[in-house]
Amino acid sequence: MRAIQVYKFGGASVSNADAVRNVSNIIQRFKGEDALIVVVSAMGKTTNALERIVTYAFERKDVCDELNKLRLFHSQIIDELFPSPTTVYQEMDDVIQEISMRLNHLHNESYNYVYDQIVCQGEILSTRIVNAYLQLSGIRTVFKDARGLIRTDTTYREAKVDWDMTGYLISRELQPLLNEAQPPVIITQGFIGKSTEGQSTTLGREGSDYSAAILAHSTDAACVTIWKDVPGVLNADPKFFTDAQLLPHLSYQDAIELSYYGATVIHPKTMKPLQNKNIPLRVKSFVQPDAAGTLVDSKEPLAVIPSFIFKIEQLLISISPKDFSFIVEENLSEIFSLLASYRIKVNLMQHSALSFQVCVDADESKTTPLLEALGKNFITEHRTGLELITVRHYNQATVERLMKGKELLVEQKNSHTVRLVVSP
Ligand code: ASP
Ligand code: MG
Repeated sequence: MRAIQVYKFGGASVSNADAVRNVSNIIQRFKGEDALIVVVSAMGKTTNALERIVTYAFERKDVCDELNKLRLFHSQIIDELFPSPTTVYQEMDDVIQEISMRLNHLHNESYNYVYDQIVCQGEILSTRIVNAYLQLSGIRTVFKDARGLIRTDTTYREAKVDWDMTGYLISRELQPLLNEAQPPVIITQGFIGKSTEGQSTTLGREGSDYSAAILAHSTDAACVTIWKDVPGVLNADPKFFTDAQLLPHLSYQDAIELSYYGATVIHPKTMKPLQNKNIPLRVKSFVQPDAAGTLVDSKEPLAVIPSFIFKIEQLLISISPKDFSFIVEENLSEIFSLLASYRIKVNLMQHSALSFQVCVDADESKTTPLLEALGKNFITEHRTGLELITVRHYNQATVERLMKGKELLVEQKNSHTVRLVVSP
């Protein structure tokens, strides 16, 4: 059987015409016997723009300006990439038309549902353009709509994958192509799928890595490569650290923990489907495609390098029962069901006899109603403007250096990892 490789290109790798040309060069360089599946995200900041458009529509604000900007952004890329009139123009206009029609006819649909119907179009626009450009460059491709490959439930904006159905669809749709004597490059979207009700869904922000992992898992691929604007997985975010270091090798467990604690380079759901089938992951730079980047696989790394993960704009909530009773299982289960119902992810938690503390992202649209709901049965206190710092493979000296001049509110340590909630 032929080996299959999956490449994933994120928004930054297709954010302008030159970037798309670069993607085409990277695919051209892919030689040899293996078949290639390419997963592409929306171009540049398109997903953010579409999110804004949906929000405006729900606030009954005019979306024309934003839609025009979106059209202009894509049409400029098309103009630069294609020498003569191309059918991609029409495809782009059809998508923009569809977005505008849907938003002009909002019924009593939920925000999350409408969000997915609109936001998924960013990926459609980008893959239409990239696919047409690859063909123009002489690469034989087949365009596959990911909504015909990835089946999910109806949890709009955070859809759960139906693995059996997805496996069936992927093998039905892709295997015949992958088995061809000279297989075409398959171009599909990240981030999007289709629900059991036949509607578009999304897998959660930055979910394209996860899509690549789903495709790799279901086709028993030999390797996944995520192409990024950084040299690979770094031990710290260069936004906060000037001397961030490349991690040449990580175990699956390291990668899972780093993304769990908030390192944004790999989407947290990506590792499990790969680990389950022992499929290695490479994170490479699309700027320097020859550099080795980071390899993630089942082997233990030879050297341990401390890694730092910063989460800013954190909110620390302390919750205690009104009647001075202990924090017991019933209280905890009420607190957790409230957190779940507002879709709030707990970044860190800690409890004592009389109080329970959670550290969460300070997103007021979710935390204000949460605090209100908690207030019915509990006394709550909260502090905003905090940082959550996680150090994997820490040593005391680095922790002390990090803490200098900061107020420590919570500290959790185990043998590999220290986590600190601090006020800067
Ligand atoms: N376009 C989506 C986002 O920006 C998915 C992705 O890029 O992975 O969240
Ligand atoms: Mg993106």
